[in-house]
Amino acid sequence: MKRTTPIESIRNVAASLLMLSANLSFAQSASHPLRIIHPLSLEQVRVSDQFWSPKLKVWDSKTVYDVFDKLEGKYEPDRKDLIDEKAKLGRTRNAFLNFDWVAQGKKNTGEHDGPPWYDGLVYETIRGAADLLVEYPDPKLEQKIDGYIDRIAAAQAADPDGYLNTYTTLVKPTQRWGTNGGDDKWQHDIYNAGMLIEAAVHYYKATGKTKLLDVATKFSNYIYQQIGPAPKANVIPGHGGPEEAILKLYWLFRDEPALKAKMSVPVDENHYYTMARFWIENRGNYGEKDGSHARKSDESYNQDHMSVFTQKTIEGHAVRATLLATGVAATALENKDDRYVETANNYWDNMIGKRMFITGGEGAIADGERFGANHFLPESAYLESCAAIGSAFFSQRMNQLEADGKYIDELERVLYNNLLSSVSLDGSHYFYENPLVATDHKRWAWHSCPCCPPMLLKMVSAMPGFIYAYDNDAVYVNLFIGSDATINQKGNAIRIRQMTQYPWKGESIIEVDPASSKAFTVNVRIPGWAHSVENPFGLYHSKVSEPIVLKVNGKAIPVNPKNGYAAIHRTWKKGDRIELSLPMQPRVITPNDSIQTINGKVALASGPIIYGFEGVDNAALSEYMLSANTPLKLTYKPDLLNGVNVITGEAMDKSAKAVSFTAVPFYTFGNRGVYPYRVWLPKQ
Ligand SMILES: [Zn+2]
Repeated sequence: MKRTTPIESIRNVAASLLMLSANLSFAQSASHPLRIIHPLSLEQVRVSDQFWSPKLKVWDSKTVYDVFDKLEGKYEPDRKDLIDEKAKLGRTRNAFLNFDWVAQGKKNTGEHDGPPWYDGLVYETIRGAADLLVEYPDPKLEQKIDGYIDRIAAAQAADPDGYLNTYTTLVKPTQRWGTNGGDDKWQHDIYNAGMLIEAAVHYYKATGKTKLLDVATKFSNYIYQQIGPAPKANVIPGHGGPEEAILKLYWLFRDEPALKAKMSVPVDENHYYTMARFWIENRGNYGEKDGSHARKSDESYNQDHMSVFTQKTIEGHAVRATLLATGVAATALENKDDRYVETANNYWDNMIGKRMFITGGEGAIADGERFGANHFLPESAYLESCAAIGSAFFSQRMNQLEADGKYIDELERVLYNNLLSSVSLDGSHYFYENPLVATDHKRWAWHSCPCCPPMLLKMVSAMPGFIYAYDNDAVYVNLFIGSDATINQKGNAIRIRQMTQYPWKGESIIEVDPASSKAFTVNVRIPGWAHSVENPFGLYHSKVSEPIVLKVNGKAIPVNPKNGYAAIHRTWKKGDRIELSLPMQPRVITPNDSIQTINGKVALASGPIIYGFEGVDNAALSEYMLSANTPLKLTYKPDLLNGVNVITGEAMDKSAKAVSFTAVPFYTFGNRGVYPYRVWLPKQ
């Protein structure tokens, strides 16, 4: 497969030796100590939170149905291209018709509804809905999904190989996987396959049903048979994501071997793990020296400009890049391979240290939906919702790999800012782009490329599993979300209950209830912003003056965060109680001097929430200048924007007159009509 130099061969031997010791819970990478921790399964956590529960209710009862309906074409277009398309076609595009056409045996008709990745968006929505079903059982939704699965399975049944990508079958049937002059960057064969696999794994876990899993397994076997080292086809996914997806299929069958008997095809789960590694390690390999096993480079756009192990920066299409990086980190959890760990760290450090926007946005450039150069962070940047959410999935995997709270800081930054902004408060309109300044930015009902709503659903439905983590010796409190969880640690059931009004108030109460008294560590995340570390690489700066207070059973203890956590080691017994108070005082954020695009500007935040100024509250917004020392006041407004804290203070207008301002959370922009807004203000 991969061309190897002698040095690489030595490295591979070293990596194999490292894998021999892979069962140790502590492995040591050259410069990144591994400490693998585990998120909880969704069954282990119930969310009961003043901030998130009402939102989850909206997404569960409204958004999931909204996205499925719109994928079915049941919507009134509100964007010109889709209005024109409807006028021309006499109808809106329906993603499910594609499956029906393929099931009817249609092929090479040239007719396909929606973009080539429409299959994938259906699968992603099923995955998100599946995870929501765990928290909120809904027989009506399950029945709806079962109906979709029947149509998907029927489409697969029409192909003797079990191949399933409706676009390629209907439009380019001789170019499977983008071969024979095709292009998987456009066709999304493998991306769609990955999303199918993930949907199948999640739907099985939520419902115990195996119909979609059987479809995914059959297809995965065909993929493994067709793609890989010579003489198989040299193919990488044209869009990142399938790497982690097929790894999940490997994990599922490895952990539940009895499940294999329920499949209609033989299962060797090692093939799926091999596939994940091939897709990662084959980046930058365009064939053998003798010209065999050749393929065209997808270049940096698809992270294919060189081996991932030599990529030091995160480049190209930001959603592709963040999802590939998530796959690299996820695979590192399995193989603990130094090269994977280094690559994941290189990607993350570059992304968070040099290319991240203050809202957690990623991907500065509209052309190619790309990451920009280091420190190129313009206010009018592109910042696709999917890119920020992809980076959040990546940060979660990094936390799992290294048990460092800094990764959750960045997951949290996305959750409370660039993720939430992507959906309207009523859960039916969406942003694709999330720039930090705009004059008439408006959420749409549906888009010709509606990738962002399914991505939102995938993350918010998975989020309950990220609130806590554990290993053999410790429990990690990662997110401050009211919840009730049970962690099974070496046979001891530990119940953790959290009560909080975060992010509007800084106090959280965490009750620790082990079934039997036992010594272990509870690691409570101490966010960087709470002790004046706005960004771990100094990309942004801020200062808070109020202290962090941590108590156990009413008694204050030192905080001393290490690797992002305050570690509380003691013999825990029923009824023990941790109280954490984080300083939610409004703070002024300044950019690193190297960020030319926002030099001399300031932004406001409180806790994890980034604030901004919207025209509806601030008539003279375009003239505002802000002093870094201006007194700021935080006030809870229960009737504004479903209940938010606002920051008020005084800015200067262009005649140097003091004017009162009101700043609201970035994520709420555009919910009271369409007004100009901005996050950064010139410093006075
Ligand atoms: Zn998107």
